[in-house]
Amino acid sequence: MTVLAVGSIIMLHRVRPDCISPLGVTRSLSITPDFLDQILVSLKSEGTEIVSMDEMAERVKAGARHNRRFAAVTLDDGYNDNLNHAWPVFQKHNIPFTVYAAPGLIEGAAVLWWEVVEKLVAKATIVKVPGGPEWRCGSLFQKRAAFHGLMRYFSYTLTELEQLPVLREMCAAEDMICGVSVDQDVMAWKELRQIAGDRLCTIGAHTVHHYNLKKLTAGMVSQEMRLSADMLEEKLGKRPAHFAYPYGSAKAAGKREAEIAADEGFVSAVTTRHGTIQVEHRANLHALPRISINGRFQKLVYAQTMMSGVTTPIANAGRRVVQA
Ligand SMILES: [Zn+2]
Repeated sequence: MTVLAVGSIIMLHRVRPDCISPLGVTRSLSITPDFLDQILVSLKSEGTEIVSMDEMAERVKAGARHNRRFAAVTLDDGYNDNLNHAWPVFQKHNIPFTVYAAPGLIEGAAVLWWEVVEKLVAKATIVKVPGGPEWRCGSLFQKRAAFHGLMRYFSYTLTELEQLPVLREMCAAEDMICGVSVDQDVMAWKELRQIAGDRLCTIGAHTVHHYNLKKLTAGMVSQEMRLSADMLEEKLGKRPAHFAYPYGSAKAAGKREAEIAADEGFVSAVTTRHGTIQVEHRANLHALPRISINGRFQKLVYAQTMMSGVTTPIANAGRRVVQA
């Protein structure tokens, strides 16, 4: 059976030469600039057309099958390595790309909490959640177990609004600043403006506070979406037309969120669910799956296999088309 893949939306986070995950647990969010270069060279040599998200949305809406495969490249969270390490690679190959930015991360109203948790666990010998559980962190094995336990606790036990104050308190107990170091952080407005000035770059919205939208009321979801677009428009002079759900899994974005994204006027919205773009997505532009290329799959052959569409049914209980 041949699976005809219409297109792919590639999802990246960090692009930097060195891995900065002290426990190796957030390695999957990072690829090297060399690997990005290899992917782009390979896509071009096999004849894949690399398009902007505007063009991707047009093609999905038109629903026509294309003779040539096509792909869009997206990067979540606006890490500053996107500017320093990924941008030169996109420029070298003249490839369009989209960065989904969350103004709360830029202005300090939100933090890359999963990275702070990793840093905290790496430093501490015991980690205690105020009024909650604690984990021993003596060995690397214990630290990794603690990290995953804390990820679950922060994701599912705490409300979205509790996460940051609890993390701040835990960092204070370890004499640690609740943040990541400047060179590992997200782009400041000035930097975002710089990269947004390139015609190759599209800036998309990613909410203000990077909350799991499924855990918020519908009113808060609208507000997170609208305010992030308002802030990006005010700072960059252009209203973002595209949106990415924070976390983006089935536990963080579903039908309700897709409907709200459409109501808020976004042309497209992407999830982190694994899948290629099929003709059927014409009816579901606000729950587009992506192909994550990450540190765990840093081999060209994996990327090529995923974009061919063969792994979509494997990752989705036999379904060829992944929607909300
Ligand atoms: Zn994100």
